Amino acid sequence: MTEIKELYDKKVDCPVCNRQFTTKKVRMSRLRLIKRDEDFLNHYNGENPIKYNVFVCPNCGYASREKKFDTLRKEHIGIIKENISSKWTKRDFGGPRDLDKAIEANKLALLTGMLLEYSKLELGNTCLNIGWLYRLKEEKDEEQRFLSLARDRFIEAYNTESLTDTNMDESKLSYLIGELSRRINDKEKALTWFNTCLNLPSTKINPLLDNMAREQWRKAKEMEK
Ligand SMILES: [Zn+2]
Repeated sequence: MTEIKELYDKKVDCPVCNRQFTTKKVRMSRLRLIKRDEDFLNHYNGENPIKYNVFVCPNCGYASREKKFDTLRKEHIGIIKENISSKWTKRDFGGPRDLDKAIEANKLALLTGMLLEYSKLELGNTCLNIGWLYRLKEEKDEEQRFLSLARDRFIEAYNTESLTDTNMDESKLSYLIGELSRRINDKEKALTWFNTCLNLPSTKINPLLDNMAREQWRKAKEMEK
């Protein structure tokens, strides 16, 4: 395989089996942004970092998004060993990943997240990541299925979880719920959530997001019922 110059190796210690493994990461400085979709998927002229944001331990099968990888509690380790490691067929995710391999890694992370009852926001982010990978793979049905799963998790997060110390706030999340609804042809919820977004004080002081919400509301309005 030809070397992909924007990838580098990172050594990771697995908190479940305590062994070390190597995974690829993307040097952002080597990438140029080509475009950004309205649901925040970035397209680059090179390897997309969303293919590498899940670490998978090749020895025990523990998989998680990078930010969550080290946050395991003691009782979680037993749950992973019992439900994942005991059935794990050793395989390596440490090389360059094609889209199928990236999707598999993200689905393993989703399984971990469901077993360990991660927040709805976190589960939604993983589902969204899988939906995006299917978009890059141009598999429309699977993309829609995972955007829908992400949308539903995000609605639960919006209604029941604190967004403090996350990469989300109410404005951005309500906008995203609206946009995902629009993309899965749920016109009614798209309009409802764009309106929710536009009525928030925190949106009014964010002109960029305010404009995006207005524009996407207009597109949703024009959708066939
Ligand atoms: Zn491990």
